Amino acid sequence: MAGTETKISLANGKYVTAINFDNAATTPPFCSVLKEIAQFSPWYASVHRGKGYKSILTSEVYENGRDVVRKFVKADKSDAVIFTKNTTESINMLAYALVNQSEQQVVLSTNMEHLANDMPWRDKFIIDYITLTKSGRLSLQDLESKLKAYENRVKLVTVAGASNVTGYVNPINKIARLAHQYGAEILVDGAQWVPHMPVDMKPINSPEHIDYLVFSAHKMYAPFGTGVLIGPKETFEKAVPVYQGGGAVGLVSHQTIEWDNPPAKYEAGTPNMMGVLALTTAMDTLCELDLNNIYQHERELIDYASSGLSTIPGITLYSMGNDSEERVSLISFTLEGLHHSQIAEILSQEAGIAVRNGLFCAHPYVANLLNVSTEEINYYQTHDDKTIPGLVRISFGLYNTMREIDVFLNLLSHIATQRQYYARKYDYVIAPG
Ligand code: PMP
Repeated sequence: MAGTETKISLANGKYVTAINFDNAATTPPFCSVLKEIAQFSPWYASVHRGKGYKSILTSEVYENGRDVVRKFVKADKSDAVIFTKNTTESINMLAYALVNQSEQQVVLSTNMEHLANDMPWRDKFIIDYITLTKSGRLSLQDLESKLKAYENRVKLVTVAGASNVTGYVNPINKIARLAHQYGAEILVDGAQWVPHMPVDMKPINSPEHIDYLVFSAHKMYAPFGTGVLIGPKETFEKAVPVYQGGGAVGLVSHQTIEWDNPPAKYEAGTPNMMGVLALTTAMDTLCELDLNNIYQHERELIDYASSGLSTIPGITLYSMGNDSEERVSLISFTLEGLHHSQIAEILSQEAGIAVRNGLFCAHPYVANLLNVSTEEINYYQTHDDKTIPGLVRISFGLYNTMREIDVFLNLLSHIATQRQYYARKYDYVIAPG
């Protein structure tokens, strides 16, 4: 793993090894990925640009990448594997592709989505949100009653594989069954799911088949700039792509456009071949390590951290759950008496521990967990008030250790007992008023 032994200097001048507990935002790259990029660098050229040997080699690597991705998530051979920039772009592209394709004009999203899986649907479909139980999990009952109430008008049920706020893993098989039973398709936002456990899109004729899957390379040990959108070729054959230009077409005159077949039709411009090489190398390494082992290790980390956190006075955990339920490796919490931005600042300044704080681009979900109305959040935002409510999130990668969690828990226990001291010392973090 590159960059996990980085030394940084603290506010007190001491040097420590940085601890990265912000892997849900972005993971550091595998050394295997960096090595592969370095080795291939002298050879790369533009994909599908003529018969030059470099372009042919580059095109081969790029096209093979689709098979690596397909195998990684067990996608059907007939599905299009489209390379995008990230999850957000994948969902936006899909929303544009699906709009006006059928009479079904309703999209059921959920109250736990990242904004990437909420906003792109709002202006194109009638959108409704599946409600949550008190603990923040999806209500399958509500899903079914909404599917019934809309009487086969639901085009798509769109849901996170795992939440970026609570780490809850959704019962995708059951959701897919229900969606299909009522004539809808299902999209899974796999940004927080695919890197942490084996994912199986299931065969097309299975009632549990995942119709569309999206995810980002930068959350699975490859650099930024590559995302994936997988779905039936027919969807992309029918629609005109948002991005148009060279690479997506056959012959073009001023009067006519001959579109290429998907996936090329959806990849206008010079493709990010090195990004695909990085992603597929990361996938190979994840397979070697075995995603079952990774899930097991990360589960031990969250169980250890959760039980440690729950003994600290003043801590409220927002990712509690039944031990038998699946969770990915992140925990969100608050500490009474300190603002989330102060806690993040203290952890960073006092021990070099990087965490995330705020609303995590899932504003309605965090507001709901904190029992704050979205109007109240809007007030803070419109008044640029830094005391805006939010959570602190720690999220583990496969390389994190119990020892790092001990460093974190020891400091947090100390902060909890010396709240007033730390509140004064880090007062500047919050804007006055
Ligand atoms: N969905 C979820 C659940 C996420 O956690 C994120 C990233 N925070 C996204 C979508 C968006 O991913 P990206 O920024 O790579 O587009």
